[in-house]
Amino acid sequence: MEITLNSLEHFCFCKYQWWLLYTENEWLSNIHTTLGDIIHSRVDIPSFVEKRKNVLVKRSVPVYSDKLNLYGIADLVEYIKQDDKISKINVIEYKKGKPQENGSVQIYDGLQLYAQMYCLREIHNCEVSGFIYYAAIKRRVELKDETYFDNLLIKTLEEMCQYIKNKNIPPKNISHQCKSCSMYEICLPILEKRNA
Ligand code: SF4
Repeated sequence: MEITLNSLEHFCFCKYQWWLLYTENEWLSNIHTTLGDIIHSRVDIPSFVEKRKNVLVKRSVPVYSDKLNLYGIADLVEYIKQDDKISKINVIEYKKGKPQENGSVQIYDGLQLYAQMYCLREIHNCEVSGFIYYAAIKRRVELKDETYFDNLLIKTLEEMCQYIKNKNIPPKNISHQCKSCSMYEICLPILEKRNA
């Protein structure tokens, strides 16, 4: 069962939103998704390749993990070379928002980023660091707690596969974040609240 990298972020944000997107093929745009698309359109250039001394920079890089059955696209990858070999990789994901108040990457952003790091390690077998570029603060934030995200990735993939296999509709995550969810008009969480 193959899982796409961007579906991880949706699942982490709200399992019901992920279900609507990936099994019901529903999609609505809102101001947040449109802003996200604008930011990605600046980096989403598959033909872009740039060389700066010993660093090769590529955009829209396909990545995969055979071990975890994961695949998707990384926004920007920096390959640092030493003696004509790749010695280190930086992977950068672009997001419109900002980090958590403690300065760490948002959990749902970090999950998707860590999965990209996992894929690149499997492909190149070298050191990989991951960063989220947050447009709201105009700088990169490094993903630090890799053990946490490693556990979260395995647990999330298991859970997603269970939902898909059993065709169970996941519960709605009704919270303050519904206000920013593009699926609000389909999901109508306000009705559930009223019924409750
Ligand atoms: S509106 Fe809320 S509960 Fe419904 S899909 Fe979006 S985040 Fe989930």
